[in-house]
Amino acid sequence: MKRRDFMKSTGLGLVAASAVAAPAIAQSAPEIKWRLTSSFPKSLDTIYGGAETFAKAVSEATDGKFQIQVFAAGEIVPGLQALDAAQNGTVEMTHTSPYYYVGKDPTFAFGTVVPFGLNARQQNSWFYHGGGLPLLNEFFAKYNVISMPAGNTGTQMGGWFRKEIKTVDDLKGLKMRIAGLGGTVLQRMGAVPQQIAGGDIYPALEKGTIDAAEWVGPYDDEKLGFNKVAPYYYAPGWWEGNAALHMMINQAKWNELPKSYKAILTQAAAMVNGDMQAKYDHGNPAAIIRLLQNGAQLRAFSPEIMEACYKAATEMYAEFSAKSADFKKVHDHYMAFRGEQYLWWQIAEYNYDSFMIRQRSRG
Ligand code: CA
Repeated sequence: MKRRDFMKSTGLGLVAASAVAAPAIAQSAPEIKWRLTSSFPKSLDTIYGGAETFAKAVSEATDGKFQIQVFAAGEIVPGLQALDAAQNGTVEMTHTSPYYYVGKDPTFAFGTVVPFGLNARQQNSWFYHGGGLPLLNEFFAKYNVISMPAGNTGTQMGGWFRKEIKTVDDLKGLKMRIAGLGGTVLQRMGAVPQQIAGGDIYPALEKGTIDAAEWVGPYDDEKLGFNKVAPYYYAPGWWEGNAALHMMINQAKWNELPKSYKAILTQAAAMVNGDMQAKYDHGNPAAIIRLLQNGAQLRAFSPEIMEACYKAATEMYAEFSAKSADFKKVHDHYMAFRGEQYLWWQIAEYNYDSFMIRQRSRG
């Protein structure tokens, strides 16, 4: 009797094959389809594009077995409800900015950045090696997600103003589109912060419904055309010394994944984290030159304004810390790290960069 016939006649063939070989394969590389909701519109090729780069990397690393379909803001849920969708399982994951959720709890801000916080290099150091990410994930677990950094803009610009801002008094009554805790600081300075989605900022600025608007930096701002209606372009965006984006994944969906898929997601997110910053660093120099050629006028916030806003931010942190143990725990950790980082930064990075900037401006 041939082996095949023997197996058939005993009925053992199928049982043996399925009991040994098939489940092992299925467990290590199952076919999975996920949906990712982005908080951003497709027009922002840097930020929205980060999720597409991520999904492509995951698909390639799994021979197409793990497919993540990316949806723009508004296609499944509005951009600012992306966390809720991942939290309640409407989607498996989101690519978003944790600081969009400061309305739920200001502790979320540390996942992106806080006013007068870290720069991008330091923020990543805090996430990956300084203990920041485990601390944040302890907090994010309350919202049923596990999170990993996946993109950064670097230091942002301070936005577009219809009139020059020379003194602290010029901030009083200023209606400005600004997100996150930066808006809360400006409110303390007498300004009127507004939450307006990306696509609606230009008309509001053109009509004069608002006096100023911040978005990201030259590469993204140029696409929105703000220079045509508000020529004064201020630096720096002290409320965004960096801005980190995250992949936030539904906890139960994460737990279901085989170990290798978890590793692939983690590595793809880390790849996007570096790639997005590199893309911004590549696009911003040419964009600022074009903006200046098209009427933008560069200005710097005065030391008086910077100092006053720093003081207002510090007072705000003390108040939040008094009200929330979660905020205090992450804040104290983050600010101790900031102190160590700037102690070091002034020695090599700062000296090197400032020397090189002087050389360049001499030609
Ligand atoms: Ca911004």
